Amino acid sequence: LGSDAGTAPEDEGGTSGNPYAGLVSRLRAAWLSGKTRPLEYRVAQLEALGRFLEEKKQDILEALALDMHKPPFEAEFSEVLLCKNELNTTLNNLSCWVKDEQVDKNLATQLDTAFIRRDPYGVVLIITPCNYPIYHLVVPLVGAIAAGNCVIIKPSEIMKNSERLAVEALPRYMDKDCVAVVTAGVQETTRLLENKFDYIFFTGSPSVGRIVMTAAAKHLTPVTLELGGKNPCYVSDTCDVQNVARRVAWGRFFNAGQTCIAPDYILCSVEMKDKLLPALREAIASFYGPNPQESPDFARIVGDKQFHRVRALLCSGRVAIGGQTDEKERYVAPTVLVDVQPSDPAMQEEIFGPILLIITVASVEEAIDFINSREQPLVVYVFSSDNKVVNQVLEKTSSGSFCSNDTLMHVTLTSLPFGGVGSSGLGKYHGRFTFDTFTHCRGCLQRGTGLEPINALRYPPYGPHKTGL
Ligand code: NAD
Repeated sequence: LGSDAGTAPEDEGGTSGNPYAGLVSRLRAAWLSGKTRPLEYRVAQLEALGRFLEEKKQDILEALALDMHKPPFEAEFSEVLLCKNELNTTLNNLSCWVKDEQVDKNLATQLDTAFIRRDPYGVVLIITPCNYPIYHLVVPLVGAIAAGNCVIIKPSEIMKNSERLAVEALPRYMDKDCVAVVTAGVQETTRLLENKFDYIFFTGSPSVGRIVMTAAAKHLTPVTLELGGKNPCYVSDTCDVQNVARRVAWGRFFNAGQTCIAPDYILCSVEMKDKLLPALREAIASFYGPNPQESPDFARIVGDKQFHRVRALLCSGRVAIGGQTDEKERYVAPTVLVDVQPSDPAMQEEIFGPILLIITVASVEEAIDFINSREQPLVVYVFSSDNKVVNQVLEKTSSGSFCSNDTLMHVTLTSLPFGGVGSSGLGKYHGRFTFDTFTHCRGCLQRGTGLEPINALRYPPYGPHKTGL
């Protein structure tokens, strides 16, 4: 595999000069052939994807360990089990989801058939981020296949071993006419995006999301954008501090903080901050031992560029816990920063690393105002034993998702839509929502050929006797 360069498909240059044009038209021909439409075909492909997860599980865990020292438990939970969850939900329900849906009719169409056909879009492109490279590849792929599309997947080029696994092992399980995995860095992805796709599913940063949406607009291609941002976590004075510390620390430091739904900053009172700090210190020590760098359960930053960006954020506020770094290993210790100002670098961008910020506020109202003065996040967290406070935050803020008294766990439910709002994204997926995302609802009216005298009522000449219609 190329480094940043990626690899364009050989001998598929086509005549347009775009290195991916041939590949896209090959997949389009497969789609137009109707091959991906039968339910049996889709189920067989999904089952093959299931075998990939089962048979390659060890390879997946090894690739992720090599790429970012991802702890085996975290890898298995987030990159294998959650994918299987999605796959099983889809396989268990697909025969119902694909059915035509009969709809209400009016007087003029009483004898006809009106229904919604769940049509595939055609050739879809899935672009994935670096942090959960298998999860972000498999979960949308499940929906794209289930809906009957042909798919081009572009894994993140940062996680080299995971990318290699995706490009070498996955195609062995898939129908190559209909599913292709391409390696591409920024330049190649720019060329890839010049092609016309029927749907683009992008997961990554808001800035690249804008680039993808701009490229899609040229072809009027619909998009899903699963983006990031800064997720606030309000901690009220009425809660079990030890529990809060463990649940927040787990969500923040899982995958070394490189989780789009990780709590980014805590909002709490000064008194709560003073109680939370020792509880967080205790939680971190109990999770990772006295030196987290030696823990098998703590991951690394995915790349050098990313490491330098995260390390630079440590100059915001004051380090209360952690703060150690090791460039050779791309290690950043589980860190808590206090006295952070809204104008500090750490509050200007998504942390996407193992750094938790604490910002003090005087009341829940002030926390709500703080949240609402910023871009809408992917998720709002609130910790409180008082349901009134939980509901107040739920009702007065806006975010892609909401979770009270825990972190990350909402992602385990395939019954909940997952996605952003505003700058945290556009569209939703998981479970039925993934299938719907890759499905065009085609409104169909099938009329009979008879009863022409009734139709005559709507034909010109209209005359005054027809205006009652
Ligand atoms: P990124 O935006 O840098 O890269 C994402 C993908 O876009 C990669 O495949 C990359 O090769 C490609 N890309 C990068 N620059 C490009 C360009 N100029 N033109 C075309 N393609 C380009 O994101 P990342 O660093 O891989 O992932 C981190 C970001 O993703 C964070 O912001 C995080 O919050 C977000 N994220 C969101 C979700 C979600 O579900 N909402 C999930 C995971 C990550």
